[in-house]
Amino acid sequence: MGLLITTATLIKQSAKKTIRDLMQTIINAAIGLAASDIHLCPQQNNSVSIKFRIDGIIHTLTVIEQALYLQLIVHIKVLANLDITITNKPQDGSFIIAKPKKTNCRVNLCPTIFGQRAVIRLIKEIQGLDLAKLGLLSDQIEILINTLKRKQGLILTVGPTGSGKTVTLYSLLAHLKKSGLNIMTACDPVEIHLADISQTAVKTEINLDYPEILRTFLRQDPDVIMIGEIRDEKTLKIAIQAATTGHLVLSSIHTSNAPSAINRLCYLGLDTKTIKSSINLILAQRLVRKTCKSCSQKQPDCNFCLDGYHGVIGIYELLELNKHKLNSATIESIKATPQLSDIASHLINNNITNHEEITRVLGE
Ligand SMILES: [Zn+2]
Repeated sequence: MGLLITTATLIKQSAKKTIRDLMQTIINAAIGLAASDIHLCPQQNNSVSIKFRIDGIIHTLTVIEQALYLQLIVHIKVLANLDITITNKPQDGSFIIAKPKKTNCRVNLCPTIFGQRAVIRLIKEIQGLDLAKLGLLSDQIEILINTLKRKQGLILTVGPTGSGKTVTLYSLLAHLKKSGLNIMTACDPVEIHLADISQTAVKTEINLDYPEILRTFLRQDPDVIMIGEIRDEKTLKIAIQAATTGHLVLSSIHTSNAPSAINRLCYLGLDTKTIKSSINLILAQRLVRKTCKSCSQKQPDCNFCLDGYHGVIGIYELLELNKHKLNSATIESIKATPQLSDIASHLINNNITNHEEITRVLGE
């Protein structure tokens, strides 16, 4: 039997026991399959689908009856310290489970026409953050380490949601942590805890947004500032101000590749001269699923993989802006070498992944 079928059977069996058993079985299964999120989705025929996101892909495990789900959702709300009487408004909470391993579970509930949809994000304790473990080429690691030695400027990670930007940013901080610097981070929310650095969470309900936190950071004598994401002009402006006044700033931006990040910065109001003088490096990345070594092709009953894939590998492209002539005329022709597509071809040629997966991740 395949992994998903075995797991679905376990969940079905535990549904006949107590709600506590059902919850623990779902969590155990999600952790066992290295899922990042558990989705509980009410459907129209009084049933609720249980789905896991694994290596970026949603897999449907099984379906439970709505009557059982209503008990499960109360259990989740109690665990996450939420109001069990509210069913028509979104709610956010979290809880920590001790078994099978200590995991922080972040809960979001969203009302839908068929009932409350729940997503539980499983935040793993990442041990030993290390630049060498991200899948970067050795030349790329060297460029990154040299860029981290600079005392000021902005380093941007780029990619869609789920491309591993957060882990990359924290791995860069873990490297910097060795050099006795005052490192301060602003995130929404804080997904990874690092010892010996100061981490602040965005709380918009009390007007503690990125610009507000950054203004305070600048009065806290920082060497390095990490901003979870630059989404607006205001945050970008303060980030650039920090990056040009003796601080190393790390952040991320939501675009597809390194050159498109330059366009986004222009769109947010920066001119090419400021971009060139303040941005040290743009790193674009994706996570690509690796083909399973135990089965040749999509055997539904392989016990080591899902749909023929097992595990992910990061692919990266680095753009050092000081190596390029940047002005409004050259902006369209700037490219990283190697590009994401070059690294992807290399992985296909070495049978680490396949064409189908690369098309899914990078598009045509
Ligand atoms: Zn397999």
